[in-house]
Amino acid sequence: MNILLIGSGGREHALAYALSKSPLCSRLFTAPGNPGTQRHGENRPDLAVTDHAAVRAFCEQNGVGLVVVGPEAPLVAGLVDDLSAAGIRAFGPTRAAAQLEGSKGFTKDLCAEYGIPTAAFARFRALEPALAYLREKGAPIVVKADGLAAGKGVTVAETADQAEAAIRALFAEPGTEIVIEECMTGEEASFFALCDGTRAIAIGTAQDHKRVFDGDRGPNTGGMGAYSPATIVTPAIARTVMDTIIAPTLRGMRARGMPFTGILYAGLMLTEAGPKLIEYNTRFGDPEAQVLMPRLASDLVPALLSACDGDLSGVSLEFDEHRAALTVVMAAAGYPGTVVRGSTIRGVAEAEASDAVFVFQAGTRSEGDKLLADGGRVLAVTALGDSVMEAQARAYAAIARIDWPEGFCRRDIGRRAVAREVA
Ligand code: ATP
Repeated sequence: MNILLIGSGGREHALAYALSKSPLCSRLFTAPGNPGTQRHGENRPDLAVTDHAAVRAFCEQNGVGLVVVGPEAPLVAGLVDDLSAAGIRAFGPTRAAAQLEGSKGFTKDLCAEYGIPTAAFARFRALEPALAYLREKGAPIVVKADGLAAGKGVTVAETADQAEAAIRALFAEPGTEIVIEECMTGEEASFFALCDGTRAIAIGTAQDHKRVFDGDRGPNTGGMGAYSPATIVTPAIARTVMDTIIAPTLRGMRARGMPFTGILYAGLMLTEAGPKLIEYNTRFGDPEAQVLMPRLASDLVPALLSACDGDLSGVSLEFDEHRAALTVVMAAAGYPGTVVRGSTIRGVAEAEASDAVFVFQAGTRSEGDKLLADGGRVLAVTALGDSVMEAQARAYAAIARIDWPEGFCRRDIGRRAVAREVA
């Protein structure tokens, strides 16, 4: 079967690696792809993924039996809806089901209706009631824009004044909707479930590092590194997450006439009262895919096909439980602000000399036999090990072999997990 993968990041390189290993995969196309995905198949930068008719025609002309959508934007644009309507199997949620990621208010209402543990919250469309609620609840408190005001994000306010400033800033934009929620405390972890609309299979855990500098300082980024598994998510906690968060979410989505198929990626706060949902993403994470895929021991393709067909019964997706994976993102100087493109990266082959190391590419482009930086997050240097500590040592040893003076990375990825292993 031929497979079309949509996207061009490090996540897609990791997915291309996993998909192309399948005996079921004859040809893998990636649109648009990057020099990393090109190593596992054929890039199709000429295919405009926003043109759903063109994607459909490409699938029909090239015998594509499965489309795998990496990023969120094509899901929200309804690519899965349009391909499925044309009888093409497409892995990922429909536009309606992708609201679990796109609208915080939608997800919070679902949580309230189905008793899914999450921070206590209220939704507001106007300034005065929001300020009244703030006065009633006090700080610390969390203020969030509801999807549409994307980019303004989330304020975890330590004081009522900070919260008020955040609320006023959001309502300065006409038509704004916001969510104000209780500030939860605990450690965060990411939990991934493969869903077929009715059933879900837990497919692993990870912890990421969002801030740009060591010690979790500096602005938020798309993610500077991650490791898997997140051992803080014990088997008992994982069962609780499946029973109290994932299963009722699938029930609620079915009841709303928008069954969820795809990857449900739950951002969790592990509180003293148990795991609570912070937010959902409706796709593999980036860089979490870069630590999940190298640990995958089963063939990914039959599992994705079964999910598309609405029947995961009988599917088991095994991850190597005895090995940890850790990825360190190398970014271009200036990230997450403005970066200079075009610097030369050397040493990737040397870094990958060990079987336990994978250099997943994100913002790169090739020019002849040169590899050039072409974005903010550029490489995700990933290693496997018998412990997070071993994976961490291997990843940083691989980074030492990469010659790219214009790039930088955090030096403390996995710090907490390693400290727990040593304790
Ligand atoms: P992301 O980039 O992770 O998708 P987002 O803008 O969708 O972020 P959230 O994930 O909802 O926003 O929140 C971002 C971060 O803010 C969380 O990872 C967490 O650290 C913090 N946060 C969000 N909600 C709460 C809460 N209720 N209590 C405490 N911290 C919170």
